Amino acid sequence: MQTFARPRLGAGVLFQVKEVGMLSKAQERYEDSHIFRVRHSCSHIMAQAVLELFPNAKYAIGPAIEDGFYYDFDLPRTLTPEDLEHIEKRMKEIIKGNHDFIRQEVSAEEARQIFKDQPYKLELIDGLEKGEVDEDGNPLEEKPVISIYKHDKFVDLCRGPHVANTREINPKAVKLMQVSGAYWRGDEHNPMLQRIYGTAWETPEELEQYLWRLEEAKKRDHRKLGKELDIYLFDDEIGPGLPLWTPRGGAIIEEIEKLAKEMEFKYGYERVRTPHLAKEDLYLRSGHLPYYAESMYPPMELEGVRYYVKPMNCPMHHKIFASKPRSYRELPVRLAEYGTCYRYEKSGELFGLMRVRSMQMNDSHIYCSEEQFEQEFVGVIHLYLEYFRLFGIQDYLMRLSTHHPRGLGKKYVNNPELWRKTEDMVRKALDNNGIPYVEIADEAAFYGPKIDVQVKSAIGREFTLATNQVDFAQPERFDLKFINEKGEEERPLIIHRAPLSTHERLIGFLLEHYAGAFPVWLSPEQVRIIPITDAQNEYAKQLERRLRALEVRATADLDSDRMNAKIRKAQLLKIPYMLVVGEREAQAGAVALRKRDGTQQTLSVDEFVALLQEKISTRAAD
Ligand code: ATP
Ligand code: ZN
Ligand code: ZN
Repeated sequence: MQTFARPRLGAGVLFQVKEVGMLSKAQERYEDSHIFRVRHSCSHIMAQAVLELFPNAKYAIGPAIEDGFYYDFDLPRTLTPEDLEHIEKRMKEIIKGNHDFIRQEVSAEEARQIFKDQPYKLELIDGLEKGEVDEDGNPLEEKPVISIYKHDKFVDLCRGPHVANTREINPKAVKLMQVSGAYWRGDEHNPMLQRIYGTAWETPEELEQYLWRLEEAKKRDHRKLGKELDIYLFDDEIGPGLPLWTPRGGAIIEEIEKLAKEMEFKYGYERVRTPHLAKEDLYLRSGHLPYYAESMYPPMELEGVRYYVKPMNCPMHHKIFASKPRSYRELPVRLAEYGTCYRYEKSGELFGLMRVRSMQMNDSHIYCSEEQFEQEFVGVIHLYLEYFRLFGIQDYLMRLSTHHPRGLGKKYVNNPELWRKTEDMVRKALDNNGIPYVEIADEAAFYGPKIDVQVKSAIGREFTLATNQVDFAQPERFDLKFINEKGEEERPLIIHRAPLSTHERLIGFLLEHYAGAFPVWLSPEQVRIIPITDAQNEYAKQLERRLRALEVRATADLDSDRMNAKIRKAQLLKIPYMLVVGEREAQAGAVALRKRDGTQQTLSVDEFVALLQEKISTRAAD
């Protein structure tokens, strides 16, 4: 499951909302909550207000959605901001009228009579009668009863549920947000309707918090920050989903790779390098063809042979494992690589750095025996947690994705026995080690179950960041084996893992997480040296040389701008340390350190270097 920018066909917004709610709080389903009824009731109240303003308006559908509600209307003219104000004011009056919501079941004929001037409702009634769709146009499995809901003078075709009385709604916690165009039933051949979005909460404080989160989200959006901080870009002539990393982005990547290499070395991984292309045969063997074909770029033909760019590194690592006889004494073998992969993600699903087509993956494959499995699997989870601590990621959730029998042979390798066995093994490993998780059916990889780690950015956006997958299919396909203690051949298990995701998604996430203010060790530029007048240019240069010799990313700003303009520039780039140097500092071999948070202090150059090195070497959070 993907919780952002990857709408599921036919599922609609509500489906996603339900999952997010369930995952983050494991509480009651969103549809069963009071706030859901409040929001849905607000959509009816809004429709009443709109119909009062435009008596000939045609109203279509109006569900509750995540954080709010909307309603689609066919109106004689385009709505203005003043209209929205007026509608909102009228909604509040209606709410204060303490009206009951009354449900009534009707026959299709009665419904047609009630909505005789409402063509969209008539179309919905036809669908309901045939048992195809519900009031929101979603496909249905069984034929529903037709119900209507009335409050005050308004009636709507609706399945509910609603609040019992409008007094359950706090008028101070309701706000209309915006209008946008929406095709009737989402089909571009249908008329374009006007969709009014609103939000509703239990209390005015919650509403205020929500509005603040929206503002903050805009400021922290990685696509905005990525541009402002000059981290990455897209270019039309290169193509969608194929990011270019600038030197600043490159610096972040280097630091993350350094971190991964250190950690993986410590945890017993060995590094390999593999090509970006391989023959069709390899992917037929691995099963990427056909199971993963939809996500692969089409082949190119050379000397009568078809080649594919790799969507994953796995098959290449398997070839390295299989390249020589292996004994149980070598196991586990852990092969690691920052591999560049290409996936044909649909253009509608591309989203900034979060979902791209070229990606550098923090990949590794662990080959181990069944007895070693639990320890290795849990070891990987501990590796995640160590990374999360370092990045200050506190809000995360482990999600075990399992197969579904209906996908066997299509989405999933057809071996029901092995699926059951491996899924049990993973559950056991998690349970034995007290690792909390939620389980979701029908989201496994084609070769086995996986644990994905969902993280939430500071603004509440959810991402699948890390992954840990078990593979029982590929050892067979690649005929992987080792000689066990009894001198017999045995198949290893494979764990696929990518705790740091891809550079693309991780850096997209971190941009939002830190709001662009990276800790010193990760900052693209760590120190900016600012001479007060040209007379200190030489001193500034000298400082730059000294810091660069220590591999610190420092730059002296020798432009002709005034000092204040230089400080402002450095602040906009969120550089953690500014060194302002004037005559006095130059004489004394000192620097006036100005931190990103505005605090200042004067230090000797040696003191500053010591402080800086301490921050960098410990990868301090501030
Ligand atoms: P998703 O479900 O997000 O498409 P996946 O299960 O297809 O991911 P894996 O094959 O497990 O992805 O890839 C390992 C990791 O790479 C994922 O956990 C995710 O963090 C990251 N990743 C996957 N696809 C993309 C992409 N298109 N752009 C950026 N990062 C990606
Ligand atoms: Zn309704
Ligand atoms: Zn893999």
